[in-house]
Parts: sequence; C-alpha cells; structure tokens
Amino acid sequence: MPSYDGVLLGAGHNGLILQAYLGMAGLKTVALERRQIAGGGLSTMEDPRFPGFLHNTHAFFQRAVTGMPWYHDLDLAARGAEYIEPELNVAMLTRDGRALEWWTDFERTAESFKVFDADDAATLRRWHDDFIPIVENILMWESRSPTLPAHERRALIERSAMGRKLLEASALSPLEFVQREFKNPVIQAGLLFFNGLREVDLRLRGFGHHIAALLASPAKAQMSRGGTAALGRALERAVRETGGEIRLLTEPKRIVVENDKVTGVETATGEFIRANFVASSLNPHQTFLDLLDQRLLPKGYAEKAAAFAYNLIAPLFALNVNLSEAPAYRAAQAHPELTRAFMVIMGLDHVDQFSDIVRHHEAGTIPPTVMWGACPTLFDPSQAPAGKHTAFMWEKLPYRLHGDAQNWDRERDAHGQRMLAVWREFAPNMADAVLGSFTRSALDVERCLPNMREGDLLVGAFANGQIGYDRPFPGAGDYRGPFRGLYLCGSSSHPGGNVTGLPGYNAAQVVLADLGLRADWAPPPLSDRLARL
Ligand SMILES: Cc1cc2nc3c(=O)[nH]c(=O)nc-3n(C[C@H](O)[C@H](O)[C@H](O)COP(=O)(O)OP(=O)(O)OC[C@H]3O[C@@H](n4cnc5c(N)ncnc54)[C@H](O)[C@@H]3O)c2cc1C
Repeated sequence: MPSYDGVLLGAGHNGLILQAYLGMAGLKTVALERRQIAGGGLSTMEDPRFPGFLHNTHAFFQRAVTGMPWYHDLDLAARGAEYIEPELNVAMLTRDGRALEWWTDFERTAESFKVFDADDAATLRRWHDDFIPIVENILMWESRSPTLPAHERRALIERSAMGRKLLEASALSPLEFVQREFKNPVIQAGLLFFNGLREVDLRLRGFGHHIAALLASPAKAQMSRGGTAALGRALERAVRETGGEIRLLTEPKRIVVENDKVTGVETATGEFIRANFVASSLNPHQTFLDLLDQRLLPKGYAEKAAAFAYNLIAPLFALNVNLSEAPAYRAAQAHPELTRAFMVIMGLDHVDQFSDIVRHHEAGTIPPTVMWGACPTLFDPSQAPAGKHTAFMWEKLPYRLHGDAQNWDRERDAHGQRMLAVWREFAPNMADAVLGSFTRSALDVERCLPNMREGDLLVGAFANGQIGYDRPFPGAGDYRGPFRGLYLCGSSSHPGGNVTGLPGYNAAQVVLADLGLRADWAPPPLSDRLARL
C-alpha cells in the first residue's frame, strides 16, 4: 500500500504550488489528476487540423505572475517560465473609431482617459494615487495570507485613515462606484468591464474598491512565452524536483476518514493511498459531497457545501482562429499604437450595456456581442508557424443557453460566426485572414475541468457571502476541512479563481503551520501587519 505525507486532489496551478512548497519542506506527496496532463487551466493545445498553431484554451492573460511570491520562491524562471508584458496592455475599441487605452505606464493611461474626458482623467489619477498605499499595505497582504474573520478584519482596518478609505469604497457596488466617480459613459463602461464585470456581479455592494484597487495596482496583464502551459510545465518541474509525484489519469473515489482524521484516498480503480493529510483543489461539491461520506460530516456542513454558488456571469465562450496575418484594426489608422495592443475589447460603448448583459444571463439568452481577446503571436511568434498567427475572442455568455447547457453543442459554431462578423467590423482583414477556427462553450469548459462547475472559471461566485474568511462557506474559510488532515487549496478558497496561485500559497502556510514545519518564505501574520497600519 503506497504511503505519503500528503495526497493532493487535482494538479491545477494551485495544487501544484502547494505541492512544491510541501516538497521544499521535505514532505512526500502525490497529486491525483484526472486528465492526461497537469496544469488545469494552464492549458495550451495544438490545433489538430493545423500543425504548429497553438491555442490557450483556458487562461491566457495572467496578472502580474512574475510579481507573485511563489514565482520567486519556486524558482520558476529558472525552471523554464518566461513572461511578456506588452506596454499597451488593454485597448477598448469603440464603434466610432476611438480607443480607450490602459498602458503599463500610468501617465499614458491618464492621457488616453483625458481624450475622452479631462475630469475623469483627474479622477482616475486621484483614485490611483489614493489607492497605491491601500494596495501595498492592505489588499496585497490580505490576498497573500490566510484571512481573518470579517469583524476582526474590520476592527483592525478601520483604525487607520487608509483603512477607512478602503471600507468606504468597498461599501459601494462597482456600478455605484463608477457612476458616482466618473461621468463619461465610455470610461464608465471600460472601468466596469475591466474591473467589474469580469470578476464580480457589478451590482453587489462590498466590491466598490475593486475598481480603485485595479487602477492603483502595478499588476498588469502578462502572457507566457510558449503558451500558458509553459507555467504549468515549470510548476510540474518544481514539484518533481522537490520529490513530489503527479499521477495522471487518476481520479479519487473517496477521501477516507477514521475517527475524525483523514487517513488517505481510495482511487476510482479501488487502490488505497495512505496519507496523513489530503489537500483538495476541487470545488466544495466534489470535496464534501462526492468524495466524503456525508454521514460523517458535522451537522449543517453538507447543506453549506450544497448551497455553494457559482458565478452567473463568469462562463466564457471562446472563438479561436488560425490566421494568415494578424488582425488589422481599422482604428489603428488613426492610432498606430493599436497594432501592438495586447488585450482588445470590442462591442462595448456604453455603461448601460451591462444591465442588458446581466438580464440576458438571467434569461439564458445571448446578448449583443461584447468580446475581448488577443493575438498572442504578435508578441510570441513561437505559438504559430513562421509568418502565421493565432488569435482568440472571448464573450460572457450564459451557461444554461435557453435553459439547458446542452444547447451549446448545437449553437456553438453559429455563434462563433456571429463573433467573427463583429470582429470583421473592427478588423476588416479578418474576412480573408482566417485559415481555420474552432469554438468552445462553457459546457466544454466544465467537461474538461469539472471543478469549474457551470463553466465558472473562478470556481465559485464572489456573492452568496462566499468571500474572504467565508470562502467557500463559513467554517471552511481557513483552508481546513471538518476533519483533522483535510485541507482546501483551490479557487473555491480565498482569494478565489484566476491564475493567482494564492489559494495554493495560502494553504501551504496553513498546512505547514499545522505540521509544525518551518516556512521561512511565509509572510508575517496578517493580523500583525494590519495592527501596524
Ligand atoms: C475559457 C477560460 C479563460 C480563462 N482565462 C483566464 C485568464 O485569462 N486569466 C486568468 O488568470 N484566469 C483565466 N481563467 C481562469 C483560470 O483558468 C482558473 O481560475 C484557474 O485555472 C483555477 O486554478 P485552480 O488550480 O484552482 O483550478 P484548475 O486549474 O481548474 O485545476 C484543477 C485541476 O483539478 C483537476 N480535477 C478536476 N476534477 C477532478 C477529479 N474529480 N479528480 C482529479 N482531478 C480533478 C482538473 O483536471 C484540473 O487539472 C480562464 C478559464 C477559462 C475556462
């Protein structure tokens, strides 16, 4: 019977990050991964009909990965990860031929905002400057540490002026924040799209600070050279070189618990793997309802797991294209810098479109197209054959199309054609440049990564009280399950989804502390830091 210190469930980036830290601490671990490849959302695939054309089918834009503590602790640059951070980071193209631009250089962003509205540009600068210390002293550390219960956090934060400013902004919804602070509808729409719609329901109070935080954050969108999977390969290397094992094509059937203590995992093929602890990067439905004997759970626990909710407006629909030439945007004639724009947003001209998008999601229908994406080969030619390109566009579309996600299999390709038509409006050369294309719906996402239930790429709503210390739900927000030796380390835990690696990083702090092992790399306790504000 194989025996380990720890078993990890799922080998996405959060699981791999935790596993590498455990390996650095001298622990013997194995990760069980149902797919034939590790990395989860760090996925790059070659189009089987077009050799040499690579597509990043899940994560592509990675926010400031090179600034993450685990990127350095795990020596990922030396292990093959390499990042590109294009200067014109985001461009929102409007139908009247203009472009609202976010640059890595804040001054250039402010200049672009000024073209739309000088007062809004001044407001942008004010929030940017005000929030820099808030990001540096509070928000950054909160995301990189196990969190505190809400009342403790509030008591510490409200003692300082910067803390009170944060609480004041976060009391608003993103929509309220933007409508109170900015007046130009294009700027309002751009800020909400960039900072609101993609992460949280922008009508929800408690998230108004997200926009100011993103304005102030030095963290810009980056991409992996060689494709997003290159980060996964570097993480796998970190795991194996610190003694960890990754078993592919292996699914857990149940987490075994004896006398309120985890003793191992039984796999789908009936093998028992003994371990002192199990860390799950799966969602709460999988971890607590599918893999544990519910009769053993404390009273009320199964109900809380069952009530865990997924984001209504997180599911993405993707159109991926192989191209003979890069998209040539009409707007680039007046704004030549757009030929090197990284993330390009199209179809969004007015803040009022948001309520329409949310309404369509609630009804399971398709809203007028608002889409965003990139042409990765402009910055990394290795992702296509010489002289050729790949590009993609994403759109927020409901998971349950006309009430049933299965409808996507029938409607997927027709919708891809509609997106292509919008793309051609902005980049006329797309009429002739497309050599081949394919689409992926939120249903395809869920089939590939079942932890992304309902196609929710953030693996759990930032609503329903599921944030901070209460993520995934009250009683499980400290990365610990209800039994000794059971841990959570995936995107359903604080601070949530996207390629941040922070759920795995924070879980590593908790697991090693419980085992009494040194973690020299870990930040000082959050409560100490907040008490010093
Ligand atoms: C279309 C799309 C676009 C995205 N774009 C971006 C982006 O641009 N930037 C960004 O930061 N994020 C993006 N994301 C989100 C990002 O991919 C996820 O938030 C991130 O991958 C979550 O990481 P994780 O390690 O928690 O989970 P995952 O990456 O999902 O890893 C979980 C692992 O568990 C495995 N697993 C699941 N069930 C089982 C089981 N029963 N047994 C064993 N193994 C199992 C999975 O196969 C997977 O390998 C995107 C996602 C999608 C779908």
